[in-house]
Amino acid sequence: MAVRILNTLGRRKEELNTVIPGVVKMYVCGPTVQDLVHLGHGRTFVAFDGVARYLRLAGYDVIKVQNITDIDDKIINRANKEGRSWEDVANQYTEEYMNAISSLKVGIDMHPKVTKHIKEIIDFVSHLIEKGHAYTSPSGSVYFDVTTYPPYGELSNTKMEEWDQGEEFLKEKRHPFDFALWKAAKPGEPSWDSPWGKGRPGWHIECSTMSSRYLGERFDIHGGGADLVFPHHENERAQSEALLGPGWVRYWMHASFVTIKKEKMAKSKGNFVSLKDALSRWSPSVLRYWFLSTHYRSGVDFSDEALQEVSSALGRLKDAVAIARTTMKESSKFNSSDDDVKVQRKILQLHNEFHERMSDDFDTPGALASIHRLAGLIFSELQGKDNFLGAGMALNMFKEFNQVFGVMDEEFMGGRNMEELIDAVVQVRNLLRDRKMYELSDQVRSILAKAGVRIMDSKEGSNWRFE
Ligand SMILES: [Zn+2]
Repeated sequence: MAVRILNTLGRRKEELNTVIPGVVKMYVCGPTVQDLVHLGHGRTFVAFDGVARYLRLAGYDVIKVQNITDIDDKIINRANKEGRSWEDVANQYTEEYMNAISSLKVGIDMHPKVTKHIKEIIDFVSHLIEKGHAYTSPSGSVYFDVTTYPPYGELSNTKMEEWDQGEEFLKEKRHPFDFALWKAAKPGEPSWDSPWGKGRPGWHIECSTMSSRYLGERFDIHGGGADLVFPHHENERAQSEALLGPGWVRYWMHASFVTIKKEKMAKSKGNFVSLKDALSRWSPSVLRYWFLSTHYRSGVDFSDEALQEVSSALGRLKDAVAIARTTMKESSKFNSSDDDVKVQRKILQLHNEFHERMSDDFDTPGALASIHRLAGLIFSELQGKDNFLGAGMALNMFKEFNQVFGVMDEEFMGGRNMEELIDAVVQVRNLLRDRKMYELSDQVRSILAKAGVRIMDSKEGSNWRFE
C-alpha cells in the first residue's frame, strides 16, 4: 500500500517517493536544552516516532536524525540567572531529555549537537556568502539576504508583511526580515572563532548543516512542531536551497500542539507539564497511546480524565491479546469451521483497514479504531471458542499494531522482569508452607519445575534457579 503524506509545502497529500528507493531519510528538529522537555515536545517526538515505525513496518529502511540545540540565548540567560556555566545547563537538560525519550521508547539514530558542528556551520555560512546569499556586518555578524531566495514564504504560506523573524531589529540588517546565520559575541558570551570574529551560530543554520552532513544534500522527510514552520523551517529551507539547489526536502511534516484543559501550555500560566512529571504519573505506554490517539496534525488536549480513558482503552486491548493467546494455546484443533472462516475474513479486513489508515498520512486514530474493532471481535467471536487460526491472525495484527504504537511491549517482547515474577510465586509457596499446606506447596513446586524453575528448600528458606 503506497504511503501518502500531507506535505506542508503545498498543503497537498502526496505519494511517498523517496530519494533512494526503499530508504527514508528523516530529520526532526529536537529540543533546545534550556529546561525540561514538556508534553508538547513529547507529542512531536512520539508522533514522528510513530511515522518512522510505520515506515519500517511498511518495509522501508529508515534513518532518523533528531538534533539537540545546546547553545542558544535561552540557555545563556538561564545560566547567567542561576550563576552556572552554559555547559552545565545544557548538559543537565540534555540528560533529562535523553531520559524522557528513552522512557517513551522514541527511536532516534543520531542526536547531533550544535556545539560539535561549529566548523561545518562556519563552512556552510562561508559558502552562502561566496554565493551572494549572505552578508557580513561591521559588528561581525552574518545575515541571510532573504531577497536572494525568491521562493521565500512558500513553505509557511506567508507574505512579506508577516516575516517577523523574532530577532532584535538591528540597523546593520539590509532588510528587516533578514535573519542571523552567525551572531557576533557580546561581552561575556560563549563564542567560537570564525572568519568574521568571535561569535556563535544563529538558530536556523544548525539544522541545514547537520541534516546535510548526516542525510546528504537531499532527503525525504523534515519534521517538527507546527510552531517551527515560520520562521525556523522557512529559514532552513531558504539557506539550504540557496546553497544546494531546489528540492532539498521532499516532504515537510508538522505535528500540532498540546493544550492543557483547552488552554495553551505556558510557564506563565502555570500549566506547564514536563515529560518528567507526566512519566511519574502515567506509564510510558499510556502516554504513547494518548499521544498517538489523535492525528499528528490535530491539537491534543491533556487532562487526567483523558489519560484515564486511554489507560482503560489500552487495558481492553491487552485483555484481547490475552484471550487470543489463551485461545491459541488451548485450541485442540487446527481445522476451521465455516464460522471460523468468517471470523478470519473479518480479521483480514481489519488488518487491511489498519494499513489503509496508517498509509493515509499516518492516521493513527483511524488505525486505533480498527484495532479496537479487532478486540471487539475477539471478545465476541474468539473468546471461549476453538478458533486457532483466527487467534493466530489476531495476534499477528496486534504485533504489527505494537510495532507502530509501542504500547504493549510486555505482551510481545517479554519486557517484564521474569525473576521478579518467579520470586513472587516462590513467596506465595512459602506462605502455603508456613500454613503447613504442604500438598499445595508441592503442587506449586512441580508447576514451577515444568516451567523450568527449580526450587531448593533449606532451613534458611527457599531459593530457586533455572533448570
Ligand atoms: Zn531545526
